[in-house]
Amino acid sequence: MSTYLQGLMDAVTAKNPHEPEFLQAAGEVLASLEPVAAKRQDLVDAGVFDRIVEPERAVIFRVSWVDDSGKVQVNRGFRVQFNSAIGPYKGGLRLHPSVTLSVVKFLGFEQIFKNSLTGLPMGGGKGGSDFDPKGKSDGEIMRFCQSFMTELQRHIGQFTDVPAGDIGVGGREIGYLFGQYKRLRNEFTGVLTGKGLSFGGSLARTEATGYGLCYFMREMLAAVGKSFKGQHVVISGSGNVAIYAHQKATQLGGKVVAMSDSAGYIYDPRGVDLDVIQQLKEVERVRISEYVNRVRGAEYHEGSAGIWSIPCQIALPCATQNELDLESAKTLVKNGLIALAEGANMPTQPDAVEYLQQSGILFGPGKASNAGGVAVSGLEMCQNSLRRSWSFEEVDGYLDEIMRDIYASSAAAAAEYGAPGNLVAGANIAGFLKVADAMLAQGIAY
Ligand code: NDP
Repeated sequence: MSTYLQGLMDAVTAKNPHEPEFLQAAGEVLASLEPVAAKRQDLVDAGVFDRIVEPERAVIFRVSWVDDSGKVQVNRGFRVQFNSAIGPYKGGLRLHPSVTLSVVKFLGFEQIFKNSLTGLPMGGGKGGSDFDPKGKSDGEIMRFCQSFMTELQRHIGQFTDVPAGDIGVGGREIGYLFGQYKRLRNEFTGVLTGKGLSFGGSLARTEATGYGLCYFMREMLAAVGKSFKGQHVVISGSGNVAIYAHQKATQLGGKVVAMSDSAGYIYDPRGVDLDVIQQLKEVERVRISEYVNRVRGAEYHEGSAGIWSIPCQIALPCATQNELDLESAKTLVKNGLIALAEGANMPTQPDAVEYLQQSGILFGPGKASNAGGVAVSGLEMCQNSLRRSWSFEEVDGYLDEIMRDIYASSAAAAAEYGAPGNLVAGANIAGFLKVADAMLAQGIAY
């Protein structure tokens, strides 16, 4: 890194000593912005790099609720409003015991560039809570969501900040959150995305991240004359992103042979049966280990990281951050990997990313390859403003176009700034430049 950017990274590290995830994300982005800093002294002079690593606002709040046994529970809620230069803050809410300020800041920071890449007018933000939805009753989830929104509502709005789902937040939770917002504010607005279809949701939002990921992978493969056809695909996770990545990868001709959850993974040499996965994960909400009781010939193994030992040509990590380490990357390459695109946010550890790139593997970074979810959230906001609903085919068509554009602009920026083929650098640079120019135009008191 240049002296200027290294100095900035040192300052960010000193200021945020207990935020490893945020420092990892900031370090990765700043490193790839080096050629931009060298070429754009105007951005350096206006302190754009220094400002972009500091959130515009971060709120931390108490979320108290009563469990089914009548006991009072207290969780911590977060909303980090990172950057609003190109539009209202936009980003999901995560409910998972691992949620900390560091995790929310890393996700909010990544979101700035991802949202910019979509070409839609959305700033970057993220939120969530250390609440663990696992094993909670429907009533407990509802009471938690209502309490969470009771505070959050004063910080968000259709023109200010529009949250969506993430890990632990799907259609059910968005419904409870929306209901409480409407009740408290007495207004029916598109304040959340990922809503149910009967109250302003968009068709294809559920499928968007997984489908978009496969559209992006299709573009990566096409650039080297390859496709999904006949390739073995390994997908980690079995949540929203993983399920619809499986569906689209299969439609495009791939064969998904393994999936996982946080406890372990399944291997099904005949191809993982998506109907069974959806029944287990979307309907019964049970562990993936149950798959082997329903499908003959399949195997279950404890330990989610073991999934990367299954040979495949295409890998789609769709579970969580830092789930794929250097050893796993080496195993994948040894077993014939051609391409990897991130469905989750930052699932590949930095040394693993470097190894994959040096080994000539096509690598799609999450902020580009998983941008389909927020892109369709942006389209949901458009539909809400128009008071109209588009058909599944229309939304899916826009999604496909947006993912093609993200691939093209990332590849073009990589080439322009001296790193041809490096989509990590390209996505960071293309996403950054649009936001940076908007910040420049809007003045420094911002
Ligand atoms: P879900 O909650 O629907 O699913 C998460 C999946 O990952 C589950 O299978 C879960 O298993 C597994 N998982 C969670 N933590 C771990 C862990 N520590 N080790 C192994 N597996 C784990 O979330 P989503 O599918 O929505 O999100 C997955 C990833 O994609 C996240 O990184 C999210 O930020 C990212 N993303 C999501 C978008 C969306 O539109 N939903 C948009 C863009 C990115 P278990 O059930 O056992 O916890």
